[in-house]
Amino acid sequence: MTMSDTDMQESSRGKRARTGSNATPPDFPIGGTIELPADLNVMDTPAGGMPIVQGLNQKRLLAFIDLATRLRWNDIPGPTVLVHVADIGLQTTEKLSSNARNIRSFLTRGFDNSGIVVDIPALAKNEKRDYKPPIPFLVSNISQSEANTLEERECWSTANVTFFAYKFKSPPTTFAMTLYGVSLDADNYGDMIVGNAVRRVIDQDQTARNFILDNHDAIPNGVDPITHIRSSIRAESFDITLKGGVDVIPVFNIYIDPPMKDCEIFAKWIKHLRSLTYPTGHGNAISRDNFHCNCCKSRAHPTSMCPYPKISGWMGKKYDYTRSPDGDADYEQQSGSSRGRGGRRNNRGGRRGGRRGNRPY
Ligand SMILES: [Zn+2]
Repeated sequence: MTMSDTDMQESSRGKRARTGSNATPPDFPIGGTIELPADLNVMDTPAGGMPIVQGLNQKRLLAFIDLATRLRWNDIPGPTVLVHVADIGLQTTEKLSSNARNIRSFLTRGFDNSGIVVDIPALAKNEKRDYKPPIPFLVSNISQSEANTLEERECWSTANVTFFAYKFKSPPTTFAMTLYGVSLDADNYGDMIVGNAVRRVIDQDQTARNFILDNHDAIPNGVDPITHIRSSIRAESFDITLKGGVDVIPVFNIYIDPPMKDCEIFAKWIKHLRSLTYPTGHGNAISRDNFHCNCCKSRAHPTSMCPYPKISGWMGKKYDYTRSPDGDADYEQQSGSSRGRGGRRNNRGGRRGGRRGNRPY
């Protein structure tokens, strides 16, 4: 974006009482530096940083809205941000409208910018799911600083609405797949064995290697892409209770730095990885269906394990973590128990698309 674009955008927005926010320098990236009024009472970023929503990217965020909306949004100039509301899925127009208005009201007040636009998508036809997929709104007519402020915090829990914010072109995250089928426990030893199995299979599988060799624009120049991908592979396990509430099995989330930025190619690469078998000596680890968190829309944990409602100051829906998953339509058929491991994003920075370290969410 050029300075003249910024100027055009700034001049077309609504009246701004606050001065100085137009003085955004043209060199990006700009940190999200905007302080919101304290009386808006937004949930604070927890000590250690905000968890990252794993498994969401632009392709997934836009998967449930119609083509015409996607094409229209592609053409909207200036910084744009996709937001989705916690615990909202394929809903009625009334519900979407109500939530979008709450977001606009919050942002108008928070950024002191009455020109902010929150666009409601038309949903793709005939979509039906037994969980709540992400339904994004597009926030536009905002400055780069406002956009960065939104997407850097990622989760905004406020009195009237709790939402998650992403860059419009949100790149793939490090979550690759969830494996199961071994006799190991959900512990560091199990993680090591399963991680090594994934490393070994990717090393030997020509198709997986070719994907990396042909598509590695997300890996820094001068670094051998295969070596980089190999060293980024890690497993993070947790137990889930199977339907019936008796049997408990470990599952192993596999995190790999995405080699490529393109979400479509990334989806093909993941599809291939999920088709493979990973022998461990303790059974063959194979891919299971991804989880669907109704709250944050992560693909890496069930709703019952969502980390966000556990953060102090959360104002969204509370979930009953002790409840049996059976017969609970809000939950998948499996619920989990976490060992509470793993990292979080920093309070500042930790921008999507960069290397993220161990983040299990
Ligand atoms: Zn979640």
